[in-house]
Amino acid sequence: MPNASDSSGADFVDSQVTFLYASQTGNAESISYNMYEEAAKRGFNARWHVLDDHEKFGFNEVQTAVFVVSTTGDGDPPDNSARFWRILRKATRGKSTAYSHLRYAILGLGDTNYSNFCNTAQRLDKQLLEAGATAFYPKGLADDGTGLEEVVESWIEGLWPALARVAQCAPCEVAEASGSSKADAVSAVSAGLAGLALDSNTSTSSSSSAHQPLVLDFRAMESLKAITGTPRVPSAVCEMVSVDGSAENTAPPLAKDLTCPPWYAALTDDSWDDTSLAPFLATLQSTTQLTSPEALKRTLLVELSLSGADHVRGSWQAGDSFNIYAPNDEVLVRGLLERLAVSTGEAHRPVALQKRDAAIELPTHLARFASAPASLFDILLWACDVCAAPRKQTLRALADHCTEVIDRDRLLFLSSRQGVAVFDELRRQAPTTLDLLHAFPSCHPPVERLLELLPPLAPRSYSICNAPTATTDSWRFAFNVVEYCIQVEGPDASSMLPLRRRGVCTPWLERLPCAQRILVAKRRNVSEFRMPAGPDQRPIIMVGPGTGVAPFIGFLEQRAQHLATAGVSPEAAPLMWLFFGCRSRQHDFLFSTQIEQWQSEGVLSRLSTCFSRDSLGGPKYVQHAMAQHEDELMDLLLTQNALLFVCGDAKGMGKDVNDALADMLCRYSSKHSECFDVLADVDTKQLSKVQALQVLMRWSTERRYLRDLWA
Ligand code: NAP
Repeated sequence: MPNASDSSGADFVDSQVTFLYASQTGNAESISYNMYEEAAKRGFNARWHVLDDHEKFGFNEVQTAVFVVSTTGDGDPPDNSARFWRILRKATRGKSTAYSHLRYAILGLGDTNYSNFCNTAQRLDKQLLEAGATAFYPKGLADDGTGLEEVVESWIEGLWPALARVAQCAPCEVAEASGSSKADAVSAVSAGLAGLALDSNTSTSSSSSAHQPLVLDFRAMESLKAITGTPRVPSAVCEMVSVDGSAENTAPPLAKDLTCPPWYAALTDDSWDDTSLAPFLATLQSTTQLTSPEALKRTLLVELSLSGADHVRGSWQAGDSFNIYAPNDEVLVRGLLERLAVSTGEAHRPVALQKRDAAIELPTHLARFASAPASLFDILLWACDVCAAPRKQTLRALADHCTEVIDRDRLLFLSSRQGVAVFDELRRQAPTTLDLLHAFPSCHPPVERLLELLPPLAPRSYSICNAPTATTDSWRFAFNVVEYCIQVEGPDASSMLPLRRRGVCTPWLERLPCAQRILVAKRRNVSEFRMPAGPDQRPIIMVGPGTGVAPFIGFLEQRAQHLATAGVSPEAAPLMWLFFGCRSRQHDFLFSTQIEQWQSEGVLSRLSTCFSRDSLGGPKYVQHAMAQHEDELMDLLLTQNALLFVCGDAKGMGKDVNDALADMLCRYSSKHSECFDVLADVDTKQLSKVQALQVLMRWSTERRYLRDLWA
């Protein structure tokens, strides 16, 4: 294998480029796919893989790679890269030349509202460099908090010349690919300005049960001479082929008690490296509302029977989480098919999706339909995310399918750099694909074009809130039903219009009848968010406001079982201290009866609560309750090696609790400098905030401070 010896990698031009992704919600996957598809069009010999397939494509032999990786939870890598990290660690341990043959570029996706921004990309970069690999193009870090697109677009623009220095490509196709979108944009404006001037400046689509109106103000377009900075139009890669409805071409009808994709058998095959992660059918046993009707959010507790799922028995513990494969809303999918002028008959006839160009693979979530036909209805219901936040490339592509110049221009504007304020407002209104198509009534994309423009529908994750027992075989989990309103200014600017929005999975779960079977899969517990095993006597501090308390209910159940079966008295067991917060003691104190009973039995040693909207004068949030017990907490953590678990919302709570802990460490250090090695040799006998944050980081690496944070 030739070696790339200098930092530019220019001494060796590779014949192939491998595009790799790690994606939790499908965003990184889509961006990586678009890059791969553009690279192929530009004449690079490109291939595209998920990181966890490293064995299949031979990662250790790859010489030119472009990574797109996202970060989830508390700076964790996506689930579909867990295996890759293991081999990377193994391959690089102590070997500074393990990847000296690799030239790479990394695009990281993250959100600065959460801690450990773009941690996956940072870690990957560091490990590859340590293993002797060379970055042929500077790392890009895109922030979803301010809009991914700004960084993503310019990073991709700069990638092509850098890539051309390290990998072969056909020169004529490069010129063609880069020139096309600019020409489109200029001609579109000259044709569209008159149309815009005649029309009202605010676009409001009408409302029906399946879709909601959008209110967007396009007045900024009036002063424009040309629309510039639109993204490249992604190529059409997918062809739809009708197949006859004979038995071998149609999936057998699903049983009435089954709510899962018709191709679920392919997901449940035995090709999983860890068989306990293979999806399986669980049966819904019960649904209970945990909150009172007056609560701000409705929280449900669902119990699933795992009966028959032998491969997961004995493989899970309290603190683990699992995925649910949920469909889109059927009403929405029917509305979408109607809007695309697909008749009911056509919608339910089997179709196969095939590659238009033999050299360009289909996106993974569509590729299955090349050999296993399914109906358009099922493909839209189960495979494509029809509620995903709109992306500029999609808007740009839709502009080409408008028959009215005004719709085309507005879509072009939304996808352009000039239209960023209106684009941000569009994203704030969280439209479904159907809302979007109704807002641009002359837009009529062919259905297969829409399928390839939509990102994959990702499974949704939940914490298990019970512990395994010898006799029961079930998972319980708690969640808030996601339904909310977004206020937008009405067309006359004097009234507010509430737009109703709903989640994908939780409203569906709420409607599911008992005895229904659904597809689920255990997730890897990479952060080891679990109770310590065996004779570990370390105290346990648990911080879990709202549904963040879910895994701790499992922990406490596990402790109660242990005390009962081992005949240990509660006083002899290590301390368990729970910090719980909610809005109102009366309306949303989740699992209150059970928690209070455990407390009275001594299973739970201490309970500290706070009720943010009760105005009873107590602490408002969990971190305020923790600060009230600062000395005790710090003593537990610093002198008794306590384990600290935090679960819940990553954006507000997770960040603020971390910050509050750092402040507590700083204050405590001024009174007990002897507890901090780092202060031994310095005059200032108090930790700085940066040092305190470093202590927390170290505890996190040592798995003493464990966080299960959710976006
Ligand atoms: P939540 O929104 O976190 O609210 C619970 C309490 O936390 C409320 O009293 C809230 O007060 C308060 N709070 C708000 N901002 C805070 C901050 N910056 N610091 C500390 N406390 C703060 O609870 P939730 O609605 O149940 O949401 C929990 C989160 O955990 C969600 O993101 C959920 O996705 C995630 N989660 C889900 C699962 C699951 O399996 N479904 C499991 C674990 C965690 P105010 O509203 O009065 O400000």
